[in-house]
Amino acid sequence: MGKVAVAFAAVAVVAACSVAAVMVGRRMKSRRKWRTVVEILKELEDDCDTPVGRLRQVVDAMAVEMHAGLASEGGSKLKMLLTFVDDLPTGREKGTYYALHLGGTYFRILRVLLGGQRSYLDVQDVERHPIPSHLMNSTSEVLFNFLAFSLERFIEKEENGSNSQGVRRELAFTFSFPVKHTSISSGVLIKWTKGFEISEMVGQDIAECLQEALNRRDLDMHVGALVNDTVGALSLGYYHDPDTVVAVVFGTGSNACYLERTDAIIKCQGLLTTSGSMVVNMEWGNFWSSHLPRTSYDIDLDAESSNANDMGFEKMISGMYLGDIVRRVILRMSQESDIFGPISPVLSEPYVLRTNSVSAMHEDDTPELQEVARILKDLGVSDVPVKVRKLVVKICDVVTRRAGRLAAAGIAGILKKIGRDGSGGITSGRSRSEIQMQKRTVVAVEGGLYMNYTMFREYMEEALVEILGEEVSQYVVVKAMEDGSSIGSALLVASLQS
Ligand code: ADP
Ligand code: MG
Repeated sequence: MGKVAVAFAAVAVVAACSVAAVMVGRRMKSRRKWRTVVEILKELEDDCDTPVGRLRQVVDAMAVEMHAGLASEGGSKLKMLLTFVDDLPTGREKGTYYALHLGGTYFRILRVLLGGQRSYLDVQDVERHPIPSHLMNSTSEVLFNFLAFSLERFIEKEENGSNSQGVRRELAFTFSFPVKHTSISSGVLIKWTKGFEISEMVGQDIAECLQEALNRRDLDMHVGALVNDTVGALSLGYYHDPDTVVAVVFGTGSNACYLERTDAIIKCQGLLTTSGSMVVNMEWGNFWSSHLPRTSYDIDLDAESSNANDMGFEKMISGMYLGDIVRRVILRMSQESDIFGPISPVLSEPYVLRTNSVSAMHEDDTPELQEVARILKDLGVSDVPVKVRKLVVKICDVVTRRAGRLAAAGIAGILKKIGRDGSGGITSGRSRSEIQMQKRTVVAVEGGLYMNYTMFREYMEEALVEILGEEVSQYVVVKAMEDGSSIGSALLVASLQS
């Protein structure tokens, strides 16, 4: 071989070696980046861990906080609000009634016809519209004028001029925000939640605001009841099945109510009701306990929200927030590795990833996870391999599993407080044999997250059995109540007329 040829061969070898070195280097770098991402996932899993022992601590904390909230005003983060609802609908109600429901994302209007028998409940029409986002931080007048206008249009369509006898219409106003009631049909707004911010309305009588707006439009309609959405769901549950004593909503936000003995409501000594009990609106979204598994993502989400240091439980378990927790994890992975490609600015937009999309990704059963790819593309993340798509599904799973399991602990906490968890409540210990005495207990559940996100629902129901045990679980029935808060509120206003 000539000198030139040798030199050439040497250069070729050096070049090949350096190409190999670059490739090995790249592979090592990519492995390192993958390791970073796996570590972030592992940390998330650890921080979101909810073994049954921890859930039981949450159960106990919920029951203790319920006691504290009933004992004195401001005694707990749980407001345990009086609703002035002591009798729930029986099934004997008659007539035509309306309900208007202001939720966190949707408002609904409906009309029901009742024939005096439980089986004769005719929900004639349900209109459901997203709340125009500008209303959420407008003025009281703008919000209520809009609601009155929507009601007027609904009535015109429904009645088609058939109310010519001039019968006054009875309306239930289902309002999914904390209210301090002075009667069943009046109460003032305590604070906004779920991103609403119309500060002038805090301290205002909500039913009166709506009545005035209806009067301005000359609508012959009377706001006969101001009803928390959970209380509406309880009413519908009870109407169909009198063993229903608890209702929970998992929608944009989350909350629960239950039937409590008046003598247990210590902060209202001398409270008299014919039934001896009253529905208490827990406002459980604001529940907090050091046993709740909190991550750095939760802390940041809270700090950047419009209601920081508030509604800690709601921010871990409800539809408004689950998507944003998942987004924060993806953003961090994207910042600390390049597995999602160049950092997409869309990923930095708060609430851009909706919980609806989280469930769509989580439940994507296409072989290549095309739905995950499509949603990531909307977030400005294109062409990620299947391995990375699987990672995203895993994040959704971890966040939703924690939510479902904590939701179950919350429900078990209520059952414990009222002695329906098989333990005899938190004040007395009962023997296992007495579990035979356990009463059948129905928990009415509604809200878009519960109704539409199968995995959330399954995790919740599975954890409830885990916490209560197989034996006691047989007595606890979880019943889905589609549109329960709106329909049930109409039933409640009907029960006040009879
Ligand atoms: P509101 O809270 O206004 O009363 P809903 O009870 O219908 O309304 O809840 C709506 C919320 O439920 C949505 O904002 C979303 O967070 C959640 N949600 C609705 N559909 C789904 C879905 N398919 N998957 C996951 N979450 C959903
Ligand atoms: Mg709702």
